[in-house]
Amino acid sequence: MRIEQDLINEIREKNDILDVVSEYVKLEKRGRNYIGLCPFHDEKTPSFSVSEDKQICHCFGCKKGGNVFQFIQEIKGISFVDAVRELGDKVDIHIEKQETAQTEGIVDDHIKMIEMHELMANNFHYILKHTEEGEAALNYLKSRGFTEELINDRKIGYAPNHSKFTHDFLEKNGYDAVLAYEAGLLSRNDETFDYFDRFRDRIIFPLLNFQGKTVGFSGRTYTDQSPKYLNSPETPIFQKRKMLYNIDRARKFIRQNDEVILLEGFMDVIKSFEADIKQVVATMGTALSREHVTMVKKLASNVTLLYDGDFAGKEAAINVGKDLLNEGLNVFVVNLPKTMDPDDYITEYGSDAFKSFVEGQKQSYVAFKAQQLYYANENNDLKHEQHIEELIHDINLIQSEFLRKKVLQQVADLYKVDVNSLKNRLSPNIVQNYTDYNNFVPEMKEKKLDKVGRAEQALLKHFMNHKQLFLEYHSRINQEDFTSLNNRVIFSRLNGYYKNNDVFNISDFSSYIEEHQIIETVMYLDSLLINDEPETEEIEDYIRIISPNEHKENSIEYLNQQLNKAMQAGDIALQRQYLEQIVQYNRNRM
Ligand SMILES: [Zn+2]
Repeated sequence: MRIEQDLINEIREKNDILDVVSEYVKLEKRGRNYIGLCPFHDEKTPSFSVSEDKQICHCFGCKKGGNVFQFIQEIKGISFVDAVRELGDKVDIHIEKQETAQTEGIVDDHIKMIEMHELMANNFHYILKHTEEGEAALNYLKSRGFTEELINDRKIGYAPNHSKFTHDFLEKNGYDAVLAYEAGLLSRNDETFDYFDRFRDRIIFPLLNFQGKTVGFSGRTYTDQSPKYLNSPETPIFQKRKMLYNIDRARKFIRQNDEVILLEGFMDVIKSFEADIKQVVATMGTALSREHVTMVKKLASNVTLLYDGDFAGKEAAINVGKDLLNEGLNVFVVNLPKTMDPDDYITEYGSDAFKSFVEGQKQSYVAFKAQQLYYANENNDLKHEQHIEELIHDINLIQSEFLRKKVLQQVADLYKVDVNSLKNRLSPNIVQNYTDYNNFVPEMKEKKLDKVGRAEQALLKHFMNHKQLFLEYHSRINQEDFTSLNNRVIFSRLNGYYKNNDVFNISDFSSYIEEHQIIETVMYLDSLLINDEPETEEIEDYIRIISPNEHKENSIEYLNQQLNKAMQAGDIALQRQYLEQIVQYNRNRM
């Protein structure tokens, strides 16, 4: 499918790269650019840079990036056409979807798995709302404070009490039972290999991935079946270690608030979101994984733990908080009243009270931990000594100087010791190993280049900066003169590009390139530091280096020099000869 180039340009121009990238990466302004942790590889110091002027982004570590389309393609793993369509939708330029799948080729299994989930989600939702079978479940939900609006909004459903309902429905719609089993929608009898429904007689909560696609379900019993929640198993599209419930919706609020609020269960998330606390997510019944921490770090620098008020909840907050603190995040805890979870609190006191409680009760994680430890062993000096050791270690990890001082004072007060004696135990150089934006040095994996390689890069970079230079010199260089294939392609694309464009625009230029490695090279060239106004001599040098066969006698400088000499000598015939050569030279370049 082809989309008009003008339309593509319009969509690109209307989608500011900063807005698009900001939805996925927390950015800080650094000089003319913005930088943040790369969304494409795992890193502790930021090497992902976004240029608002140039409308491009680029990672100095893994080299990924490009213009808005290429960013969306990469982060969502979608085609160029889909990226154009998606960004088009955002700015109200709608590109019609052609007949899908069959016409475009093989649909891969993951897409089918997602389709099956979306289909079943709609189906379960219908059954909950419009059938007799769903009535009891619907009443149960209503009794638990779920309004019709909320049920629609989260597309909550009901899986009827049949062993072949999902099985038959999917089969009727052309899906394969084996694939449905691999997607976690069906279970299998290990002896007979008979497939049957995994979710039966349960209230169904769709679980959406980062992109808002349904990839799993959580089935809650309303009739005291065991377990209380039955989740989809691990599948290629549903991996709990990567799954944060509500991340698709919370992302933009997380960015706005520079805060993630982490809850224990997805039910709490639904209720908190409804109570207008929007930057909320939860893991799906697993501990916080490495991948979760990475996701969180990329979006915000503050994490608030809002766990249940019981002992288990407090213990979980202490453990999770430690991991997050170690990662250089600012960690806070909202300490709910004993035995209450967010849902209970909202049911008991209402949404507004809950919201103001959460907003008014964010305690630094280390202060929270100090209290928990202290009151668990109030009269045990031996333990206190151990606690102080551990707390000092944690205080060293607090990023904010203000909070470090405050928490130190709180610990001193709580344990009734002199604050100065604690201060002496703090690490003398609280090294900020973490996101130290002030010392940002892009980790350029600069390959050792020889003289020729350097000359090729410098020349291309100058050509990218100045169309005039390109026009003046390009005819003296053969594409084959470039030793690197990427440089060769860039040189030839520049030729085509400058025929239609007066000014080089990297975001636009990279739309002309499909090959990933070549875009990387363009981005790399763009990042090279080079003098902005090169002297003729410099360019001549580069050309001599990369095109050694070019005869000096043909260069314009040589001709000009000779012309001058002839003029000084008053040699009219020679002057005419060189003038003719110069005219010829200029003609060749046109
Ligand atoms: Zn990267």
